[in-house]
This record gives sequence, C-alpha cells and structure tokens, in this order.
Amino acid sequence: MKSAIYTKAGQVGIEEVKRPSIQEADDVIIRVVRACVCGSDLWSYRNPDIKEGHKNSGHEAIGIVEETGKAITTVKPGDFVIVPFTHGCGECDACRAGFDGSCDNHIGNNLGGNFQAEYLRFHYANWALVKIPGQPSDYTEGMLKSLLTLADVMPTGYHAARVAGVKPGDKVVVIGDGAVGQCAVIAAKMRGASQIILMSRHEDRQKMALESGATAVVAERGEEGIAKVREILGGGADAALECVGTEAAVEQALGVLHNGGRMGFVGVPHYKNRALGSTFAQNISVAGGAASVTTYDKQVLLKAVLDGDINPGRVFTSSYKLEDIDKAYKAMDERKTIKSMIVMD
Ligand SMILES: [Zn+2]
Ligand SMILES: [Zn+2]
Repeated sequence: MKSAIYTKAGQVGIEEVKRPSIQEADDVIIRVVRACVCGSDLWSYRNPDIKEGHKNSGHEAIGIVEETGKAITTVKPGDFVIVPFTHGCGECDACRAGFDGSCDNHIGNNLGGNFQAEYLRFHYANWALVKIPGQPSDYTEGMLKSLLTLADVMPTGYHAARVAGVKPGDKVVVIGDGAVGQCAVIAAKMRGASQIILMSRHEDRQKMALESGATAVVAERGEEGIAKVREILGGGADAALECVGTEAAVEQALGVLHNGGRMGFVGVPHYKNRALGSTFAQNISVAGGAASVTTYDKQVLLKAVLDGDINPGRVFTSSYKLEDIDKAYKAMDERKTIKSMIVMD
C-alpha cells in the first residue's frame, strides 16, 4: 500500500509499504477514506534534522473498518468511523473525567503510526473509535470534510473552550486563525459566548471566522492588539483560547484577559516552560493539553455536524490525492490553504 513519508526537511514522498495487520487483541485495521495534514505535522515537516524514512506524524482520518482484533466488540468490518488521534480506553480516571486525550492507561497517542496512508492500524480501538451512521457515499463532500475535522481539529478547538470554561454570556478571544482557531470560534459560539474576537491578519480567515460566529477581528498584535481587544470588549476577556503554541501567542492570551480570567491552550507548546507562578498577580486559571476527541465527538460534536448546526469542514480549503501529498504540505506551509485534505481513491 501507499504511505506518506518525510524524505527531507520540507519534502514528503510516497513509499510502498506492507499493509498493516492486527498485532494486538484491541487493534483495528482501517481503510482510510479521507485524511489530512495537521498544523502540528508542519513542525515535523520543517524539522531540519529529518532523516530519510523519518516516521510520518499524520494522525487524522475517517475510514472503513477492515478487520478487528479479538477483543473488539464495538465496531465490525464495514463500519464507517472517525479515527481520533487520541486513543482513550474509556475506563480510567482520566477518560471518565472526560480527558481521553490524556488517558491514564497509555502514554502517547498515534503509536500505531501514520494516518496519511491507504490503511492504518489503530490500537486501543474498542472505546476510542466513533461510529458514523451509514457509509461515505451517503454524505456530500462538504459533510465528509466536517466529519474529518472530528478526528482532531474540531475537538481540539472545542477543548480550548471547554478547559477555559467558556459559558453563556462570556467574552472570548481566540488566538490563532488556522484550522484549530477557526474551530475554537465555532466552539465558543456553541457554548454560548456573547462576544468572540479572533486575532487574525488574513482577510480570508477573518471572513471565515466572522461567518462562523466571531463578532469582531483584531489584526494588531502585542500591546496594540491587547489595547484593541480591551477597547472592543470594554475591558478584558473572560476567556482566551490559545491555538498556536508559541510564546507570543501565550503572551497575547494572558494579556487580553481581565484579572481572574481563564486561558485554555491547545497549541502544542514550542516554547520553554513557563513558570507556574507567572500568572499569580493576575489570578488567571490556565488549563490545556490534548483534546478529548472521543468524548466530545460522542457527546456533542458528531450530532452537531450531522444536524448541520456547525460546519467545521470549511477549514479544508484545498484537497489533494495521496500521490500529491507534498503539495498538500507545501500549500499549508506557505499559508496558501488553511488545511489540506487528502482524498483516497
Ligand atoms: Zn492534528
Ligand atoms: Zn483511559
């Protein structure tokens, strides 16, 4: 089968590899229907230390169950499923508290390997996979795009809003106008925020967010951006959703909050550890981490997509065949597309 592989920094190729097979009792083999490139994949893609054959980090897909391990009771061959990058067991304290992205029973998600391939092996599958009613042919391309966001970006945006405790009437600021930031805007609206400001300098991304529930956009950064937000809100924000993963984004998030505000962060940190005491003077609550993909999909997000209440699939502004995966990465890296979808034959 074909599988994407990093060949050198800034280049992705296709290699022919053996189709994965069941190795553990709780494995499922999935035929990929749609996959995509994540903002976090770009960190691997750009890594100058990349070696030929470096493990691909692709981890978002929807597909058809092809084969199941002995312990699998929840899905059967032929089922159409969301393939979350998380692999929650559904039974441990973390999963039961609604944090399946940090399941106590296994450390590290996506251990089974690359999702940017024709087939994938999904481990800890029994609880984590989310069944989609019917078959791919029952859905429009737009709906398939939205279903695909449920493997990562939409639940990740939702996680930022949830851990920041966004509730009806809140004033929310979203930092990051990429796919996760766009989904965070959708999530803030779902949870009843009265005002949602997106920090963005790109007109197309501003427009998308305004159509999904943002009430204002702020293009300025740093102190200027903070001043603009405060002017619009008439004070600081109740919640800031950090969807980038840089120190500048964290500073921006903390800066727009009023004292006692809440920051939810879902950008994979690419900065040195920030001291826990650094928010003491502001009395700010800080929470974040990997999204509870399965929990949110089962509780609210799949239904919201199927009912047409939300349309997160709009973040896929371009589609590619697996053979053209290099172009899919390049387009995202050069910010020519918000998010690239991979369409399997
Ligand atoms: Zn991702
Ligand atoms: Zn668990």
